[in-house]
Amino acid sequence: MCLTTPQYRQPWEIYVNMEGERFVCEDTDSVDARERALLEQTNMQFWIVYDQAIHEQAPPLSQIWSREKFTASFGTHPNFFTADSIHALAAKSGVAPEALERTVRAFNDGVRTGQDPLGRRHHPLPIAKPPFYAVQNHGTSVKTYAGLAVDTQLRVVDRAGRPIGNLFAAGEVIGGGVLTGNSFCGGMSVTPALTFGRLLGERLLQWRRNTADAAE
Ligand SMILES: Cc1cc2nc3c(=O)[nH]c(=O)nc-3n(C[C@H](O)[C@H](O)[C@H](O)COP(=O)(O)OP(=O)(O)OC[C@H]3O[C@@H](n4cnc5c(N)ncnc54)[C@H](O)[C@@H]3O)c2cc1C
Repeated sequence: MCLTTPQYRQPWEIYVNMEGERFVCEDTDSVDARERALLEQTNMQFWIVYDQAIHEQAPPLSQIWSREKFTASFGTHPNFFTADSIHALAAKSGVAPEALERTVRAFNDGVRTGQDPLGRRHHPLPIAKPPFYAVQNHGTSVKTYAGLAVDTQLRVVDRAGRPIGNLFAAGEVIGGGVLTGNSFCGGMSVTPALTFGRLLGERLLQWRRNTADAAE
């Protein structure tokens, strides 16, 4: 629900893990770098941390929720936390307090000097003005990379690579890895599902027609 894609919204906040440390350069262009960094974090969780000045000046963190609904969630939603100090914020959120204090200090030094520890370029404000805010996030899987093995005619094959009679597959069931390897590529799930599904449908129709013609 929070917008963490820098191509759509440059980050004003920092992202920290349960250990209270930043784990990725928040404004890196690479979705691959961001996703892989998240995979390494405890429970695939992270907290978006910021302060009152950012709360007031940054573009909305959510495109889906109104600013009013977002702000009201700090009193009601179990993943939204606010406190008057970084230490208290961390304690409430389940993040290591001393480490988070260190992390915020280092980030603020970087804002002042222009030398962010992780090389971040966009950091308009330090995190300094209470109250402070944290929004807990976690990674989710939208598809699987493993799937049924198929040959170039989309016939499902056994472990030895032999086609299994009359069994075909296309779409997510053949796994994303076969098309994109070990990387994320936007649109490479729906597009091949539609394309291969159509190709397979046409081919099966043709095969059925040929079989019917041969039988006549
Ligand atoms: C939140 C989310 C966001 C995503 N965003 C993107 C994106 O931006 N770009 C992208 O390319 N991909 C995206 N994907 C992945 C993409 O949506 C899927 O990989 C793709 O839709 C798979 O298509 P499919 O036809 O193979 O399978 P599905 O769309 O899952 O279709 C399978 C169909 O089979 C039906 N079915 C299941 N069992 C049976 C049964 N026994 N009998 C009859 N019918 C059955 C199901 O009800 C379903 O309708 C996203 C996925 C999610 C969850």
